[in-house]
Amino acid sequence: MSNPPANSLTSLVFLGTATSHGVPMLGCACSVCQSSNPKDRRLRSSVYIRRGDTRIVIDCGPDFRQQLLRLGVWNLDAVLLTHEHNDHVAGMDDLRSIQQRQQRDFPIYLSEQTETSIRQRFAYAFDHRHRGVPHFELRRIAPGDHFSVKDLDMEVLAVDHGFVDILGFRIGDLVYITDAKRLPAETLRRIHSCSVLVINALRIKAHKTHLHLEEALDIIEQLNPSQAYLTHMSHEIGLHDELQKQLPDQVFLSYDGLRLKF
Ligand SMILES: [Zn+2]
Ligand SMILES: [Zn+2]
Ligand SMILES: [Zn+2]
Repeated sequence: MSNPPANSLTSLVFLGTATSHGVPMLGCACSVCQSSNPKDRRLRSSVYIRRGDTRIVIDCGPDFRQQLLRLGVWNLDAVLLTHEHNDHVAGMDDLRSIQQRQQRDFPIYLSEQTETSIRQRFAYAFDHRHRGVPHFELRRIAPGDHFSVKDLDMEVLAVDHGFVDILGFRIGDLVYITDAKRLPAETLRRIHSCSVLVINALRIKAHKTHLHLEEALDIIEQLNPSQAYLTHMSHEIGLHDELQKQLPDQVFLSYDGLRLKF
């Protein structure tokens, strides 16, 4: 297939915008978990990014199969992983169906630490005696690296997730950061001029390993992107429509199915 023109738009779809529990959370009867607003129903965090005929996803959690079915995505050129926590990798066995359909493998970009975890978690996929297993073509990356998936150019960012160092990504004017508790100075410098910032905000109250709302808003104010989207939210963030009214002009709560073009 021919390459798209250089000015073709990149689109991003939020496949999921929840923290590890998902929203509604099992067993919870709070007003958010009981809400009938589709924007308050959140699958685990992941995004789909497309530019021309290049298609990638960032993270591959337990809702991955359902997310791709919802969007009607049948092809992928790469998967990027931010880190090895279950809500970001548990759906990786389902990459099998896409590989079988495409009749080709595609790379999975990940840190050394995430690779170690994937090799343990999905040991059967690396055992050549087994058939019908996914084939993980792992490509190790580290903060500061640049790599391309067809015509999408990525930069790898360092993100501090409390007790673990994880990855964020810059793709042109877009920055995707989830599960941050802090952003190292070098990352703040690298993303200062981005126009679209996606960043996590778990809830209103502080948390040990994730940014809460006030911390996320402070980073947004410091970076001053044209638009910022909050993701990886728990039910404790509150009702979408009520909280959105209280946010600064350029800050938006993401929701599952939200599409951006830039
Ligand atoms: Zn997470
Ligand atoms: Zn709840
Ligand atoms: Zn995490």
